[in-house]
Amino acid sequence: MNYIDLAMKRAKESNCESDVNFFQALKEVLVSIQPLMDKHPEYQTHNIIERMIAPNRSIYFKIEWLDDHNNIHVNNGYRIQFNNALGPYKGGVRFHPSVNPDILKFLAFEQIFKNAITGLHIGGAKGGADFDPKGKSDKEIMKFCQAFMTAFYNSIGSDIDILGGDIGVGAREVGYLFGQYKQLTNTYDSIITSKPLALGGSLGRTQATGYGLIYFTQKLLEDLDQTLKGKICTISGSGNVAIHAIEKLYDIGAVPVTCSDSRGAIYDRNGIDLELLKKIKLERRASLEYYANEKKNAIYVKKEKYIGGSSYVWDIPCYAAFPCATQNELGATCAQKLIDNDVKIIAEGANMPTSSEALEIFQKHNIIFAPAKAANAGGVAVSVLEMSQNSSLNYLSFGEVDERLKKIMSNIYLHIKEVCDEYDLDMDLVSGANILGFKRVADAMIMHGV
Ligand code: NDP
Repeated sequence: MNYIDLAMKRAKESNCESDVNFFQALKEVLVSIQPLMDKHPEYQTHNIIERMIAPNRSIYFKIEWLDDHNNIHVNNGYRIQFNNALGPYKGGVRFHPSVNPDILKFLAFEQIFKNAITGLHIGGAKGGADFDPKGKSDKEIMKFCQAFMTAFYNSIGSDIDILGGDIGVGAREVGYLFGQYKQLTNTYDSIITSKPLALGGSLGRTQATGYGLIYFTQKLLEDLDQTLKGKICTISGSGNVAIHAIEKLYDIGAVPVTCSDSRGAIYDRNGIDLELLKKIKLERRASLEYYANEKKNAIYVKKEKYIGGSSYVWDIPCYAAFPCATQNELGATCAQKLIDNDVKIIAEGANMPTSSEALEIFQKHNIIFAPAKAANAGGVAVSVLEMSQNSSLNYLSFGEVDERLKKIMSNIYLHIKEVCDEYDLDMDLVSGANILGFKRVADAMIMHGV
């Protein structure tokens, strides 16, 4: 059995069988780093794989909170501090009923390589709780955030572990989490990013992941003498990432025609009405059903009506597809539909939105595929800009942040392409990104010693 297979076997023995998302992410990385391991036998000597695929520290905690009617609730909270070879742990916090140790382990593992790929000095972590913010009052959200922070504030710090937003955690939640940390520690220590501007947030952070996704895709297409200008694009999700990807697509003259939420999907052939979408999702926090009520030409399909369980979004013919909702939302059936409809490029806005089977199908058909750990790294990159603005007290304008974001996304693409050329990987950006990220972390781990 070779070293990679042995490491995978040991990982299976030391993790739960139910950690399916974690194993999916692990397999994707390990399979693609074989050429790197062949070229660098010292990684095996230092047993780097086995050391890298086990989290440094996993914190599990109980969150008790009171709702508006004084009922007491209990939720499970987690923080996976996976690897800090390159810098302090950094990664978002997710509030969603589906959160469990497996989901957070996969997200934290992916975050290590994403952060490494940006070239910035940050390690990888992820946290969250199985709390559903839907239908909760503002006061209940505040109480939950306070209880969450109280349960583990002594495990974080601006040189230890810095939190951020993710699904269910936007500026409002970040504000409450930060406020509670301040209260408990009597410091203004910058332990969280994606803060509201009034609390030291960075201009351009809200837009960074969505804008960065499109900058990365544009750079990639430019290299192939292609463009998104005038092209039909499909997007899933309607949260922070999806909305800002749609906004940037309009800026560059593309035509985004779909979006979705956890209840259904919208197809608006004339292009998504961005103002209406923002009003529904950001202001009213309501279902996309309202979009179809207000725009009679738009088609709304409820989740229960999806054919074969695959989102209606991927039924729509497009040049580029941007999955921006959640993990494994794009399965094999959707992949085949996209190929039948002659899709040219898939760029992941969400974390691991493409299932292993779908990825195999895209690779078999030589579809250009931009993996999340590269394409959606703009968010964490601007979070680091937020951290440096907080410590220097020197704040950047929106234009300055946006210019830096563009440059970072362009460099990420160029560095991955260099790796692809070095290892004869052609346009296999999945392997290129994994090798680039893995190598940076492995080299740092060796320098630190055992
Ligand atoms: P949000 O909470 O802002 O939005 C998530 C959106 O996805 C919501 O519209 C939600 O619907 C929808 N959604 C959730 N589950 C499903 C589903 N099964 N099918 C269809 N739609 C669904 O999260 P973000 O936009 O911040 O995050 C989206 C993805 O991007 C996640 O994978 C996240 O990890 C990743 N990401 C986010 C970054 C950021 O900066 N925010 C950075 C890097 C990655 P509903 O409105 O009904 O809840």
